[in-house]
Amino acid sequence: MNRSTLIRKLQDHQNLQWDVIVIGGGATGLGTALDAVTRGYKTLLLEKSDFSKGTSSRSTKLVHGGVRYLAQGNILLVTEALHERGRMLKNAPHLTENQEFVIPVYTLWDVILYTVGLKFYDLLSGRLSLGRSYFISRSKAIARLPLLKADGLKGGIVYHDGQFDDSRMAIKIANACADNGGIVLNYFEVTGLLKNEKGRIEGVSATDLETGIKYNLRSKLLINATGVFADAIHRMDDPSSKPTIRPSQGVHIVLDKSFLQSSSAIMIPKTDDGRVLFAIPWYDRVVVGTTDTPLDTITSEPKALEEEISFIIRNAGKYLTKPPSRDDALCIFAGLRPLAADPDNPSATKEVSRRHKITLSSSGLLSIIGGKWTSYRRMAEETINRGIKAGLLEKRDCITKNFRFYSDNTKPRSERLRIYGDKAGEIERMIDEKPALGDLLDSRLPYTKAEIIWICRNEMPGTLEDMLARRTRALFLDTRASAEIAPEVADIMSGELKTDDAWKERQLNEYKQLISNYL
Ligand SMILES: Cc1cc2nc3c(=O)[nH]c(=O)nc-3n(C[C@H](O)[C@H](O)[C@H](O)COP(=O)(O)OP(=O)(O)OC[C@H]3O[C@@H](n4cnc5c(N)ncnc54)[C@H](O)[C@@H]3O)c2cc1C
Repeated sequence: MNRSTLIRKLQDHQNLQWDVIVIGGGATGLGTALDAVTRGYKTLLLEKSDFSKGTSSRSTKLVHGGVRYLAQGNILLVTEALHERGRMLKNAPHLTENQEFVIPVYTLWDVILYTVGLKFYDLLSGRLSLGRSYFISRSKAIARLPLLKADGLKGGIVYHDGQFDDSRMAIKIANACADNGGIVLNYFEVTGLLKNEKGRIEGVSATDLETGIKYNLRSKLLINATGVFADAIHRMDDPSSKPTIRPSQGVHIVLDKSFLQSSSAIMIPKTDDGRVLFAIPWYDRVVVGTTDTPLDTITSEPKALEEEISFIIRNAGKYLTKPPSRDDALCIFAGLRPLAADPDNPSATKEVSRRHKITLSSSGLLSIIGGKWTSYRRMAEETINRGIKAGLLEKRDCITKNFRFYSDNTKPRSERLRIYGDKAGEIERMIDEKPALGDLLDSRLPYTKAEIIWICRNEMPGTLEDMLARRTRALFLDTRASAEIAPEVADIMSGELKTDDAWKERQLNEYKQLISNYL
């Protein structure tokens, strides 16, 4: 992916009609663009910020059916997600893991409830199961989770779900779109919709935020995949449209791995207010969360509330013999769930369906909202099928069920480079030629100079934040350490992207301001 090349390609196509334009470069939009481009449709995706800057880089990092949705009796949602979970682990093995979870149980009733519930969860995943669930004794639960409080513990239920790196998966999908002939552009904002004299949507007006150049771009099908921002696009279509999104904030705290000391994750099915809490190993850290706080403000940079932080710390402390404090947090991050609400019956987020919703407006705007990262592929398939059903596209079959993001199964020399899939060899060759490029930028973070250079050349980072938050996960793994490497990374980026010193200074200032949100 090279932004200048893609912009030139866009300019060459400016007078052409696209088959599909997708607004929004999160999981939903990127998945939809990939579905469209692999069916052979001429496809353009426009993202106003960076790919996955919104909710899609702020998830719990689970590829899961959702045990708690099963408890709510949402069998359709869980079954669909379990099948997609299996596909994602097969198609992107370099970005996903089969993760073992243990639910600690303290009463006989819980032993029965969770054993039976998780057997059903196994059953629903069918041939795409990641491993069976089973009960383990108290001593075995403590052997697996040495820091779990043992008072009153009856044992544990072991089950399997998937885990992944959300923003690297997003970048991989963006790359796959471009490799298959699509155009995917970050920092390109849709500011209005184009309509014909009959009021039918014909395309978008959009601005390249790097140059300020405005474009009118035409398409047969326009897809609104803007997550929590979907209603802003609905209002461009119909200023009197009712709200369809009920945003709900979820917060996570990242801790050092010494707080868990295990490769198994903990799932607490019922905290003091009835929510689920996870403590999951991730890149040598532990991610603990999450919360579910209805909010009225929609922003690209949500901030954890003090009560959400204390909720997580208090509840983690109830189960761990080494209780974390706020000062132990390496990073605190918040994300907004784009829950689909009933416009005529807005209700609390816990009752709002977690399943996605596809709508087609009378002027032809196709919107896809809600859902989960895990189900992004199926949501995309249904969205494009809906466009075909509406007669906006000629019929072509979906091929993403077995679309492989990792074609070559050679293992990189270093496990750390596995996330680059079949491109890891390119980074290894850079290090072979210049061994100093293989030095870690900081002992607390798993990234080298070679990766920063390779990412600049291949993954379209526009800002220092893109590099530290989403191409690498430095911001999320250790916010303070990421701030310490920021000047060196900005230097490398500036050299690679051929920018001036003023760019570097601006990036460092903006990054300094950003990190206060994560501490
Ligand atoms: C706390 C939390 C934990 C979660 N954990 C999990 C999990 O573990 N597993 C799971 O499967 N799911 C999880 N989810 C759900 C999942 O993360 C979301 O469903 C998914 O990321 C939503 O993706 P999206 O593309 O719809 O939205 P977003 O990622 O927000 O993407 C929308 C994009 O549209 C862009 N945009 C907006 N307006 C415009 C415009 N005018 N022009 C161009 N672009 C525009 C935005 O910049 C944004 O990047 C979690 C969600 C939250 C909040």
